[in-house]
Amino acid sequence: MTTPNIQVDLKDFHWMLEMIQTIDVGLIVLDKQYNIQTWNTFMEAHSGLRPDQAQGKNIFTLFPALPETWLRNKVDTVFMLNNRSFTTWEQRPHVFKFRNYRPITGMAEYMYQNMTIIPLRSLTGDISHVSLILYDVTDVAINKMQLEKANTELSQVSRTDGLTQLNNRRYWEERAEQEYNRNLRTKQPCSMVMFDIDHFKRVNDTYGHLAGDQVIRQTAAILKETMRNTDIAGRYGGEEFVVILIDTSQENALVFCERLRKHIEESVVQWENEAIKFTISLGVCELHEQFSNYQVWLEKADNALYKSKEGGRNRTTKAQLVTPPNPSTESGN
Ligand code: GH3
Ligand code: MG
Ligand code: MG
Repeated sequence: MTTPNIQVDLKDFHWMLEMIQTIDVGLIVLDKQYNIQTWNTFMEAHSGLRPDQAQGKNIFTLFPALPETWLRNKVDTVFMLNNRSFTTWEQRPHVFKFRNYRPITGMAEYMYQNMTIIPLRSLTGDISHVSLILYDVTDVAINKMQLEKANTELSQVSRTDGLTQLNNRRYWEERAEQEYNRNLRTKQPCSMVMFDIDHFKRVNDTYGHLAGDQVIRQTAAILKETMRNTDIAGRYGGEEFVVILIDTSQENALVFCERLRKHIEESVVQWENEAIKFTISLGVCELHEQFSNYQVWLEKADNALYKSKEGGRNRTTKAQLVTPPNPSTESGN
């Protein structure tokens, strides 16, 4: 009477085994000594080792590249707490360094993996083994990384001025506000420089708009060479630039301005057999706690720039704070 039932059970068991063998995830059974008891076709296909070649072997001997300390920690915890554990590709991209052969995500050299470790109860009820379940998540990982890369590039583009590769006005203003707040707190000296190309309209009118663009590009290039990496430069308008000089007093900022002014005065833009010479006018202002926001600070630098224009151009002017102690504040030409 019982025989037919056993046959049905065996058949079920056989099907179950078939499914486990062919399922598209890796299955490994380990004992407490990290010896492999069995694994399925997924593991065989990706490691190149048949179950009989793996059986009884220590997993760390068979896969020397496994992150041993990390994996022991995980597995020991599963044994101890009788709890399953889950690890993601973001923590550890390739637990088993299997090559990736998927056509669509072919740019990944190795298979990205998530892994679940589950405790296995023996017939006597104690936790004698664990099962590692390995999921191939290469397509998910590649998609996510590509999306992140695209987002980084997009946010870089949205902050950058296309002509000069300096910060654009919107992003520069964001940074200026941050620096204003930071420096009021730290009380470090910090200076703002605003400058504008002299008689730029004439460059456009004489040599054309494209030559004008090249003059703007060269101005930005000289600015980048002259400033420090930590300084924050931006293209504020057409031929108008701003730069925040970190940890720089007004006196030192003045030295910077004069160096920049002279570099530009000495430079030449070669344009269709013409040598274009040009100059800039600058205004400089150190951050002062009396400024109620960064716009006031910028306005002071802009006023000083205006004075440089009024005074004859190709020069630097220091900003006046409250009342001018000395009417002669110009330097340069
Ligand atoms: P000033 O010495 O007083 O600064 O005189 P300016 O001629 O430089 O000043 P103005 O503001 O009269 O002219 C600036 C010109 O810059 C006007 C505008 O057409 C031009 N301009 C603005 N943006 C660009 C740009 O991206 N490329 C080019 N080629 N020209 C630009
Ligand atoms: Mg100008
Ligand atoms: Mg201008």
